[in-house]
Amino acid sequence: MRFHVLTLFPAMFGSYLGEGILARAQDREVVSVNLHDIRDYTHDRHRTVDDYPYGGGPGMVMKPAPLFEAVEAIRASGELGESSPVIMLTPQGRTFTQAVAEELSYHDEIALICGRYEGVDERVALHLSTDSISIGDYVLGGGELAAMVIIEAVSRLLPGVMGSAESPANDSFTTGLLQHPIYTRPETFRDWDVPEILLSGHHAEIARWQRRESLRRTYLNRPDLLDSLTEGELTEEDLRFLRELSELS
Ligand code: SAM
Repeated sequence: MRFHVLTLFPAMFGSYLGEGILARAQDREVVSVNLHDIRDYTHDRHRTVDDYPYGGGPGMVMKPAPLFEAVEAIRASGELGESSPVIMLTPQGRTFTQAVAEELSYHDEIALICGRYEGVDERVALHLSTDSISIGDYVLGGGELAAMVIIEAVSRLLPGVMGSAESPANDSFTTGLLQHPIYTRPETFRDWDVPEILLSGHHAEIARWQRRESLRRTYLNRPDLLDSLTEGELTEEDLRFLRELSELS
């Protein structure tokens, strides 16, 4: 899968992309990340990418022309299909979730546009981008961190990126719930023991405990996730356990 990132700060990506699973994904040629400096698509001596907002107001606005020219040049190179998503990163976009990561993971190529300053001329959203995504209800100084978040979350889902021992299948959100607690050695750390059931070797009982802890965590920390589960995703036993939890609280 190929990511194209349009940014004013390509150097920000270097060390992050050079480590961990993203480095591995690129070494295995499952993922490639092409960084495009938006200033390379300007035509004036100062490589101007921003201008004052029409109608007044604070801050500067990113001009549309360099972004249109950048996307057109990438398309012309054959490395971004006509129907590939061109995603504007903005706090005003739809919220990025595991489900959106999965949806994006089915594309061969994706372009991510990183805004800066007060934001980007609206004509980019209206006539260039095909989607807009926010990584959460807060405002960052630029879209670069959002692009990195998306690249990593999507890459983890691609076959060949993670070893089977670290499969994303049990991750929080993939199952619709938060993941159960996890422990490793030592068995006792500063008087705190690993739950006995995990040492028992009874796989069915362990799975039952993990399911319950997953439900408990989701009930306590993210009850909204339970509301969005569809019928059939919770068993009779799950429902009984959730009723017990609600009676206790
Ligand atoms: N004035 C804009 C608003 O209120 O919607 C915010 C502009 S922000 C300072 C500059 C850029 O950072 C945005 O154009 C966007 O690319 C990026 N950005 C900031 N917060 C983001 C978020 N939560 N998700 C994705 N991108 C974000």
